[in-house]
Amino acid sequence: MIPISKPIIGEEEIALVNNAVKSGWISSQGNYIQEFETLFANYCGTKHCVLLANGTVAIHLALETLGIGPGDEVIVPDFTFVATANAVRTAGAIPVFVDVRESDWCMDPLDVLKKITNKTKAIIPVHIYGHPAEMETLNKIAIENGLYVIEDAAEAHGAEYKGKKVGGLGTMATFSFFGNKIITTGEGGAITTNSDEIAQRARILRDHGMSIEKRYWYNDVGFNYRMTNLQAALGVAQMGKIEDFIKQRDEILLTYRFYLEKHGFKLNPHLENTRPVNWITCVLIEGLNHEKRELLQKELLANGIDSRPFFYPVSSLPMYKTDKQHRVTSELSNTGINLPTYPGLTAVDIEIISKAFLKAVYLVI
Ligand SMILES: *Cc1c(COP(=O)(O)O)cnc(C)c1O
Repeated sequence: MIPISKPIIGEEEIALVNNAVKSGWISSQGNYIQEFETLFANYCGTKHCVLLANGTVAIHLALETLGIGPGDEVIVPDFTFVATANAVRTAGAIPVFVDVRESDWCMDPLDVLKKITNKTKAIIPVHIYGHPAEMETLNKIAIENGLYVIEDAAEAHGAEYKGKKVGGLGTMATFSFFGNKIITTGEGGAITTNSDEIAQRARILRDHGMSIEKRYWYNDVGFNYRMTNLQAALGVAQMGKIEDFIKQRDEILLTYRFYLEKHGFKLNPHLENTRPVNWITCVLIEGLNHEKRELLQKELLANGIDSRPFFYPVSSLPMYKTDKQHRVTSELSNTGINLPTYPGLTAVDIEIISKAFLKAVYLVI
């Protein structure tokens, strides 16, 4: 059985987690928290990293930190993982969905312009499947309209836009360290930012809103969104391997391209001036729809190969249902499938997967 994804945990991770357990610092204080925050901020080229319990609360905390709540609108791409929109709802604000571009599958700046109202407070571009969004144009629109920009970089650790790493391209950014992300802490997340004020506010709100000047005094309704030292120990070990993980993921995508592009399949986008990371290998299949994709996935599974459908448009889910459909989002959602991607997947595995995939497509389409 070839899984769609799996975490790569080695001796280094085991040793550091052991250290953390033995030290007694098993909750959210301890050396590994500080060390991982420093390593990750340096890696992203940002001044600050605030570690959190997961990537979803990272988005929620980002919104709370910026004071976004009831009555406010936040623009999110329709083509994303549901957590992006859920976090906006959790803050009490209204997610407003925009289409993505055909060229990079990320937030379409032209559609953002159409959806801005006097209630809009922020936009959340998502670097979907590891490809950076069109940040320069989006930042320009944000400045002109007085909006905050929160990058949802949950799938894009290490990706670059015009030579700069994601995480420092907007007001703030959020990351996830879930088991299937580029690096993992089991569950985990982070906010990165270059603003001292935002970082400090996020640190206060992550810890029940406890005042920095006066311990056990609270000026705000905060949250317990802290990461544990055990998770941070995993993160520190993973940081030693992140470049190798990304390189291996690049190789995997190149190998898939070799087997599939000659048959006319379109794989992950890669725009000039960007350096995407291959969070997950994507293939578009013309003529596919949700029913046919289910058959295709069943066929792959019969060959011992796990796969994953592209995201459904968030605005098609019951909680967010609107009549309006977004053309590119619908098209991607209908025709896209993800294939196994994780460091350690060999060229031979990819040949086997690709051949099974071609056969399954032939059977289904
Ligand atoms: C994984 C993911 C999240 C949520 O991260 P969790 O750590 O699972 O809460 C948010 N946004 C996107 C785009 C993701 O892929």
